Amino acid sequence: MHKGPRDWRVPPNLAVDALEHDAFSWDVARAWLDGLPGGRGLNIAHEAVDRHADGASGTRTAIRWLGKHGERENLTYEDLRRRTNRMAHVLEDLGIRRGDAVFTLTGRVPELYATAFGTLKAGAVLSPLFSAFGPEPVRQRLEIGRGRVLVTGRAAYERKIAGIRDRLPHLEHVLLTDVPAGAPPPAGTLSLASLMADADDTYVIGPTDPQEPALLHFTSGTTGTPKGAVHVHEAVVMHHATGRFALDLHPGDIFWCTADPGWVTGTSYGIITPLTHGITSIVDEAEFDADRWYRILSGERVSVWYTAPTAVRRLMRLGEEPARDADLSALRFVASVGEPLNPEAVVWGSDALGLPVHDNWWQTETGGIMIANTIAADVKPGSMGRPLPGVEAAVLSHGPDGVVTHDGEVEVLPAGHEGELALRPGWPSMFRGYLHDDERYRRCFAGGWYLTGDLVTRDADGYYWFLGRSDDVIKSSGHLIGPFEVESTLLEHPAVAEAGVIGKPDPLAGEIVKAFVVVKPRVRADDALSRELIGFGRSRLGAAVAPRELGFVDDLPHTRSGKIMRRLLRARELGLAVGDLSTLEGEETT
Ligand code: AMP
Repeated sequence: MHKGPRDWRVPPNLAVDALEHDAFSWDVARAWLDGLPGGRGLNIAHEAVDRHADGASGTRTAIRWLGKHGERENLTYEDLRRRTNRMAHVLEDLGIRRGDAVFTLTGRVPELYATAFGTLKAGAVLSPLFSAFGPEPVRQRLEIGRGRVLVTGRAAYERKIAGIRDRLPHLEHVLLTDVPAGAPPPAGTLSLASLMADADDTYVIGPTDPQEPALLHFTSGTTGTPKGAVHVHEAVVMHHATGRFALDLHPGDIFWCTADPGWVTGTSYGIITPLTHGITSIVDEAEFDADRWYRILSGERVSVWYTAPTAVRRLMRLGEEPARDADLSALRFVASVGEPLNPEAVVWGSDALGLPVHDNWWQTETGGIMIANTIAADVKPGSMGRPLPGVEAAVLSHGPDGVVTHDGEVEVLPAGHEGELALRPGWPSMFRGYLHDDERYRRCFAGGWYLTGDLVTRDADGYYWFLGRSDDVIKSSGHLIGPFEVESTLLEHPAVAEAGVIGKPDPLAGEIVKAFVVVKPRVRADDALSRELIGFGRSRLGAAVAPRELGFVDDLPHTRSGKIMRRLLRARELGLAVGDLSTLEGEETT
């Protein structure tokens, strides 16, 4: 249905129109934002905070914070502007310059939002870390990102940072979020509240090139250290546009994104996107709790809810009754991301919430939602949906060594074939590189496509269906875990000769981390050692990353080149016949 030329500045329901409209371009989406006054560029913090704080929207609630213990705090756009102005001054007064990395290691606390936008206002780069990381993942990321400032809480500092501080040569300042103004902070730290109290609450954002780095998100591959994906201020064009296309955000919405700010969803959609729309974003400090979640959905009159398959599955376990008992009359759109959403979960949404759960797909490197079931189209349960406007996707021919290339060319497969999901570069939130690792960045491209590492198929209607990863990374409760990081940590234990780590399918978490360990000669591989190794993993990596299960083996399967064949381990764990392995593993065994 073509409706002829239309005015893109006043979209009635973009999700409907844009998917039908050939005329969409990223310039159209850019025009939905203001840019810095006086043509001084584009800054995420201006689009999310200052432009709404000017004028009538200033008194609107930007963030409604719900504390773990029942506290409530409403931050208006004007409040947020003042706090983020102070934060920008705090950072500048500490000597932070444009391009320096400011890390956060916090839960969902108000200080996180002040830090995020204060950092962006000052032209520094925000790198939020997952608060459940143990000291080792934190150290590695701070080191790779050369973090000069870390904003965290007192307990996290004492448990995770104090002990490794001497191994973090770049880290100059630790700002604690929970030391009251005037109170003495622990040695080697500063009280954020004291610094904020002394700072000026007016600030003019400096000229910002849209291509300046703004966000640094770490993600894991199969081998090596974590990769720092760099995103620029222009990403806000994508954040805002996909807020419309994929999440159907409209003025007056109350939006709740449940993701942890330490993962890209929690930043792009938990911090930035709703505020670029000038709406109210619910921020809940607590972790998953079904009763609490239904209370928030009904009590806060949430209209758009963005969550994750693991959470949906946990709610499903409790049946439909709690959902039916909650007043969900304000809820009009539910979406989920991060791991495969079972078709049953989509249907459960329709039955229990009165709305299907709209699955969508993206990854750290893409910076924003790329493929989605939108409100405008029929939901296909089990499918991730179709590419959003401005996004060109394809399925590329894929062999044992990855995407098949002939003289640098790749083969785009027709509908119905399985291959690797690829995206045509050019969308605004595309990552601009891996920090200090150009080679790894270059390997992400072939034949003019960005290769996602996901195996998919596309149907005749253009919907994409997820089949699995082309590599060995693990997705546990939506968190991406690199097996190599876990294996390296286990190897630091004196009893361990070798370790192979896989994702073992789990009905709730999608996958759990399972380790296979070969012990050193004369070491007793018994239950006590298993418990000790699991505890060792937890203390170093944090509970979300450490192995949940551990088994001892006499040896691990290797390729001829010496790599551990994790897929063979996984196949054995699943009890697959060796004949089935041809589809799982292209590498030769020794
Ligand atoms: P991350 O970079 O941590 O956000 O993880 C991205 C990866 O999560 C993707 O490459 C996929 O493997 C997986 N993923 C994200 N969304 C979906 C989805 N809707 N269905 C299946 N897998 C997904």
